[in-house]
Amino acid sequence: MRYAHTVSDLVGSTPLVRLNHVTDGIAATVLAKVEYFNPGGSSKDRIATLIIDAAEREGRLRPGGVIVEPTSGNTGVGLALVAQQRGYRTVFVVPDKVSEDKRNVLKAYGAEVVVTPTNVEPDDPRSYYSVSDRLVREIPGAYKPDQYSNQNAPRSHFGSTGPEIWRDTDGRVTHFVAGVGTGGTITGSGRFLKQASEGRVRIVGADPVGSIYSAEPGRHDQVHGYLVEGVGEDFWPGAYDPTVVDEIHRVPDAEAFAMTRRLAREEGLLVGGSSGMAVVAALRAARDLPAEAVVVVLLPDHGRGYLGKVFDDDWMRAHGFPVDAPEPLVPAGLQ
Ligand code: PMP
Repeated sequence: MRYAHTVSDLVGSTPLVRLNHVTDGIAATVLAKVEYFNPGGSSKDRIATLIIDAAEREGRLRPGGVIVEPTSGNTGVGLALVAQQRGYRTVFVVPDKVSEDKRNVLKAYGAEVVVTPTNVEPDDPRSYYSVSDRLVREIPGAYKPDQYSNQNAPRSHFGSTGPEIWRDTDGRVTHFVAGVGTGGTITGSGRFLKQASEGRVRIVGADPVGSIYSAEPGRHDQVHGYLVEGVGEDFWPGAYDPTVVDEIHRVPDAEAFAMTRRLAREEGLLVGGSSGMAVVAALRAARDLPAEAVVVVLLPDHGRGYLGKVFDDDWMRAHGFPVDAPEPLVPAGLQ
C-alpha cells in the first residue's frame, strides 16, 4: 500500500509548470513552482515541521504546550497541521488586512485567532508583534516560533525548496525569483541554489512598493502600507539574508493584482497576490534573457483565500485598480 503516515508527510515536492501566455515576447523558459500543492495550500507548510522539531528538542515546547505566532495566515495553517498531529493547541495573531476567509481557515483547523490593526508601528502595544508577545507571556506553556527570526525557516527551504528546483531543472535553472516576506523562502532556497551552481544562479527578489526591503536606505517616507498580503516588511527580520539576493524589484499593488488575475485567466493558476507580484518581477528579469535561460518563480499560495479581494471586481474598483473584464457574452437580463 502507498500512503502517507500523516498529512505533514505530504509537504514539498511541488511541481514546476511552464508559463505560456503571460510570457509573450520572452525567449527564456519561465517555470512556476506551484506551492499550493502543499497540503495546507502554501509554501509555509515547509517550515512548520523543522521549527516544531527544534522547539521540542530544545525543550521550549513541551507536551500540552501552546503555539502562539503572529502570521498572515499561511504559516498558521502549516503550524496547525503539525500541531494537531502532536497534541498542541494554536493561537494565531493576524493583522486586520488579512481576509476573513483566511482567518476562518485557521479557525477551521482548530486554531484560536486574534485580530490586530495593520497600520500601527511594530512597537505599538496594539501591533501584531506586541500582542503576540503579550500572549506568549500570559498563556502557560506558550511557545512562539517567531518565523521572522527562526533560522529553521530558511533552513527548511535550503533543505527542500532549493533542492527540488535544482533536481527538477536538472541543474539548468539560471534565475530564481521569489517575493520577500520574512525572507525565509528566498534566503534558504537562494542559498542552496547558489551553492549547488557555484554562484551561477541569480537570485531575484520581489517586494511591494511601500516595503522596507527595496526602499532606498534612510528613506522612511518610502515605507508605507500596501495591499498585497504575505510579502514586504516595515523592519528587517533575522530570517532574511539580503546578501543572498542579487537584485530586487519593487512592484506596485496595481501591477501585482493585474498579473494575479491574468495568471488565473490565462494560465489556469488561481494564486494569491504575492504570486502575481513575483511573476511581475520574474518577467522583468526575464525580458532580455536568451532562450537558454531558465527562470523559476515561486508562487507561494492559492487564490481561494482572496476571492473577495483581488478576484472581486467591486473590491478592485473600490481600491482604485482597473478591472479588465471583457464584454459579457450573456445579455444583461439573463445574468
Ligand atoms: N506570499 C505569501 C502569501 C506568504 O504568506 C508569505 C509568507 N509570509 C510569502 C509570500 C513570503 O515568504 P517568506 O516569508 O518566506 O519570505
